[in-house]
Amino acid sequence: MHELALIQEVCALAQHAAREQGASSIHRLELRIGSLGGVDPEALRQAFAVVSASDPWRHTELALEVVPTRCFCADCRQAFSPVDVIHACPRCGQLASQVIAGRELELVALEVS
Ligand SMILES: [Zn+2]
Repeated sequence: MHELALIQEVCALAQHAAREQGASSIHRLELRIGSLGGVDPEALRQAFAVVSASDPWRHTELALEVVPTRCFCADCRQAFSPVDVIHACPRCGQLASQVIAGRELELVALEVS
C-alpha cells in the first residue's frame, strides 16, 4: 500500500514545517492530488487514519483536493479534460502529447499553532 508511505512522507514534511514555525499542534493538512497520480483518495484517507492514531496527528483534519486531468493538444493549441484514460483531443482526435495537470501530489496548506 504505497499510500501509507506517501502520507508518512507528507506528514514528516508537515511536521518539519510546523517545527520550523515553532508550532506544536497541527490542525489541518491540505493536500492536492492529481487524478492521474495513481493515488486513491480513499486509500489516502485510510492511511491517514493509521497515522493520526498517534501524536501529533490526533486532532488533525485532512483535506483532500482532487485535481482533474488536463491535457494539451499541440495541434489545436487547446487544453482539454480527457474523458477516459486515452487522452484524445475532442476536436481532432489526436492523442495529447502533454499532460499539464493531474499528476501532482502537493501539500497546499498547513494550519498550525
Ligand atoms: Zn486537437
